[in-house]
Amino acid sequence: MNCPGCLKENQQEFCAKCRKELFDGKKVSPVLSFNSPQKATEPYFIEHTQNISISGVQVKFSVKLENNQLELTEKGGEFLIKPIPIGNFLHLEAAPANEHLTMQLARQAFKINVPPNALVYFRDGSPAYLVKRFDRKAGSNANEKFQQEDFAQIAQRTSITHGENYKYDFSYEEIAALIREHIKTYKIEMEKFFRVILFNYIISNGDAHLKNFSAIQSLQGDYLLTPAYDLLCTKLHNPTESDLALSLFKDEFTKAFEAYGFYTYQDFFEFGKKIGIKVSRAEKIIAPFQKENKLVFKLIQNSFLNEAQKEIYIKNYLDRIKRMNMK
Ligand SMILES: [Zn+2]
Repeated sequence: MNCPGCLKENQQEFCAKCRKELFDGKKVSPVLSFNSPQKATEPYFIEHTQNISISGVQVKFSVKLENNQLELTEKGGEFLIKPIPIGNFLHLEAAPANEHLTMQLARQAFKINVPPNALVYFRDGSPAYLVKRFDRKAGSNANEKFQQEDFAQIAQRTSITHGENYKYDFSYEEIAALIREHIKTYKIEMEKFFRVILFNYIISNGDAHLKNFSAIQSLQGDYLLTPAYDLLCTKLHNPTESDLALSLFKDEFTKAFEAYGFYTYQDFFEFGKKIGIKVSRAEKIIAPFQKENKLVFKLIQNSFLNEAQKEIYIKNYLDRIKRMNMK
């Protein structure tokens, strides 16, 4: 089988590198000893957990490592686990594999900082996405966490102040302005932010809204962007969704956008300049999103999507590359 962490071929369960990164080297099975707590009839659920956050149709549960086994927990979870979401979208059973693949693509093919993650299975065989939490202080027990705020909080927008659509009624340009305002090392962080926006476009993630970006306090006390999270090809589940969750610009469109009706190279180039990235750097950051990357195809093939889903994923990727080469 392929490693349920990095998707490397011919592995016996987790490869050594993933074991180290995810579980401090412990041999942990990708098959869990319990069923999805979403099925509330499961007595284990009632006894051992409560759901800790709901983002749209996605429920997340907290998990910790105990005696080489992942167990549900209410407190001190080192991991989050996301079962198949409930809702009226397509291919929802593949959402965990989609998120896992997309996070691996971000990291391995585009050098985006993401937390260690894997695809695991409940006892009944249904898949779940597992991700290591990045807000826990190392060596601490239970509730010691780094101070973290998402950009809805930083922008001081809630459903009460800005209506039900508050997470989407914003632009990436405005998030960039907040990064500049709140993060001392914004020059470095801005390039990371730019790369994530490009990545979301190239893999058809149309749900990277205001709460899917966060800043976190470092050990030194200053703020940085968190690793990227909640990345997946949402177009697989919702083919008619808009291309990006937020518009790139606050109140303008490029000539290219007016001509094509969708974002192309020109938009991202102008966006990069607008958020303060030097022209030569912007070109360099955009370039990998204009070329077919062999590793992307390989990871898609090695992923836990089925063949039809892989085909859709590849088609969307190729469509976006084409757009990134329109000038
Ligand atoms: Zn691995």
